[in-house]
Amino acid sequence: MSRYKHFDDELSTADVHEAAVLPELDVDEPNQLEFKPQLRNYESNGASSTKKFNMNYLKIYLLRRSRLERFLMITTILLLFILFVSFLSVYNRQQEKKAERSEQICLTPACIQVSSAIYSGMNESVEPCDDFHEFVCGQWIKKNIIPKGHSSWSTTKELSRKNLILLKGILEQQVTSDEAQRDFSAEYEAVKFYRSCMNVNDIEQQGVQPLEKFLQENFNFTLNQWIHIDQNRTWEEQFALLTKILLSKYGFSYFLTIAIGPDDKNSSWNVLHVNQPQLGLDSRDYYINSSTNNRSDPETDARNKIIRDTYIKVAADVLQYIGFDKNQSEKRINNIVAFETELAIVSLPMEVLQKPNETYFLMSLKQLQDLYQPLRVDIYSLLNDMLNINASNPIKLDENDQVIVLSIDLMLKVSKILQAYLLNPQKSHIVIDHILFSLIFDLSSHLSTTFEQLSFPLLKELYGMESLPERWEHCIKETDGAFGYGLGALYTKAVFGEKDRQQAYELISNIREMFDKNLDQMVWIDEQSKSEAKKKLKKMTEKVGYPDFINNRTKLNERYIGHSMIENEYFNNGIKVLQRERRRSILKFRQKVDLTDWSMTPRTVNAYYTSSANEIVFPAGILQPPFFHKDIPISLNYGAIGTVIGHEITHGFDDQGREYDADGNMRSWWTKLALDNFEERTKCFVEQYSDYALDGQAENGQRTLSENIADNGGLKLSYLAYQKHKQRRLNNANDLRLPGLSYNNDQLFFIAFAHSWCSLETRNAIHYDLINDPHSPARIRIIGTISNSVEFAQTFSCQPKSRMNPSKKCHLW
Ligand SMILES: [Zn+2]
Repeated sequence: MSRYKHFDDELSTADVHEAAVLPELDVDEPNQLEFKPQLRNYESNGASSTKKFNMNYLKIYLLRRSRLERFLMITTILLLFILFVSFLSVYNRQQEKKAERSEQICLTPACIQVSSAIYSGMNESVEPCDDFHEFVCGQWIKKNIIPKGHSSWSTTKELSRKNLILLKGILEQQVTSDEAQRDFSAEYEAVKFYRSCMNVNDIEQQGVQPLEKFLQENFNFTLNQWIHIDQNRTWEEQFALLTKILLSKYGFSYFLTIAIGPDDKNSSWNVLHVNQPQLGLDSRDYYINSSTNNRSDPETDARNKIIRDTYIKVAADVLQYIGFDKNQSEKRINNIVAFETELAIVSLPMEVLQKPNETYFLMSLKQLQDLYQPLRVDIYSLLNDMLNINASNPIKLDENDQVIVLSIDLMLKVSKILQAYLLNPQKSHIVIDHILFSLIFDLSSHLSTTFEQLSFPLLKELYGMESLPERWEHCIKETDGAFGYGLGALYTKAVFGEKDRQQAYELISNIREMFDKNLDQMVWIDEQSKSEAKKKLKKMTEKVGYPDFINNRTKLNERYIGHSMIENEYFNNGIKVLQRERRRSILKFRQKVDLTDWSMTPRTVNAYYTSSANEIVFPAGILQPPFFHKDIPISLNYGAIGTVIGHEITHGFDDQGREYDADGNMRSWWTKLALDNFEERTKCFVEQYSDYALDGQAENGQRTLSENIADNGGLKLSYLAYQKHKQRRLNNANDLRLPGLSYNNDQLFFIAFAHSWCSLETRNAIHYDLINDPHSPARIRIIGTISNSVEFAQTFSCQPKSRMNPSKKCHLW
């Protein structure tokens, strides 16, 4: 399974009650942060080889020359002197001009826009050293509200919505040309898919019919048969059939969650992975009381119970809508949730899933078969049938073949739970109920909007949104999921040029270089580990904007060909897309990993690092203002997108990324000493971030550790790269100041960083993020990071021990 970390555009902001006592740790290595120019003292430099000038030589030399020769020599010396003085004067004038330039104001439309956006968000009545979040985002928070259909709002989401609006315009104007209808075209398929999603009349008229047809065609099973399932017999055959068809044809797997992806220990090749069961609610935490983990957190327990109760109510309503009576729907969903709770208890928590080396185990197919034998599932034929879709590459797995599992113990426990249910005549139907109910939930976004309306109370409880998203917004996102590169081709043509790409590459190159230089200064990591880290950095690949194939019409179309969309068949279109993607995924088995593939589409406002490929990726969607613009002061680009670039590079060296080597293979390249020091330093971050709280709930500093390491590394690297950039390109037009803002460019760097994180979030979304999001909430991303930054304190002349400049600072990269 490809493990990738992303920068994430799902942000949160809330009241942060900083702990009364901030962590006490001295800044260790302040010197590594200083890039003082190494002035060479001419007099002392190489003193031993400097010879004293002897006046006697000159006298003898001159006496030996004719009068004319002496005259010419003196004239030459005089002329050279005049030339030198003139040169000095011109040079000084140029230097003065440069100094003047740096005080000049940038008045391009891009500068005026970005300046206005930043200024209108600031609360300058607050001291930056006291609360930098309020200083940069105070007015932004007052002036914005969370729009309908959203649970949070931020500068990032504003950009994301701008991208969606742009695509809406493009898709709605895309002409149905004769040519597009004659030849298969990815862009036109995207248009048809979008239209089918917007065609609510047809969708409503069809009601649950498409679902009924789907069940009949695939399982020879009607909704009515499911409603009246015999609750006193065992259902192993139906279980085996459902598992096989859903897994192989559509990629749905609720217990045997089989995926194909790179082998973390041999990352060039794709292999089989078995992950943990999927639950109706995203996280196992919703099902488990804190007492199960020997903790006591009554508030979180109460909140999770409300969510579980809402889930039960919503699910019962959905079941009634498709034909169950009230009594049966409630009884059966309660049984499903009790079953899910048993699965949740044995599932691995996020903290364990975040440890690559502790979630990689090889299991032979024989072992897997032994676990599923009592359930009448033939693992060999299941996998062989699923994988044999390419006649030119026949596959025959036997008992010696292996799969990668998260934990052998987990596999055993899941099998035991399944046996306890499936082989018990009173409980067997609960497993079937669980599968079919999960399937309906997964397909419901392509069915009547009644499903959405019935599910809304759960969305409201989970995220706190006041209404469903607007239909067009929902449909653009769905189209992006189905035809992301077709849409990406249209998007990048409109907003992303080659010059943008080149400038982004330049920024990345400068920040990478800084990671390398910074490593040289580090004393906690020994030479051996340092040299491995350098190798890894050197081999890290980068992708910017979009995959090149989207500009090649033939290749772009090849990706989607074979499944033509129909404008009034939204449900079937969704099924075709599922089949297409499942087939693509299966064909990867035992093939080399395609390193040109992307995990995000071009319009996405996000970025990521993939450990198994050792690559950083920045879609065109995030290479837009306020993150990036080619015509604004470069300090802003370094502050916003630069810190994101630094964040992704640092992921290669966070507590998870460090387990992978330069080739993306999980292999320990650390000496014991360096690793001990690494872990000591990460403890500092865990303690620092665990001391932050939101809406009365403490942040889990262990869960957010990787992201916090990346945030801190990202800010520091980008700042240092910006300083280096200034030294190299003093006369660059991009060092102009912003109109209306009385801050120098170093200060603007930090302001742009914080501005890119201004956000609002509902209380429910805060709770959701604390449970599900590996990132710190937005406000803490700002405060936590700058509190560790010596450069921030210097730039804003913060007094020692001011709130944003605590004496204890955490440092890793
Ligand atoms: Zn990240």
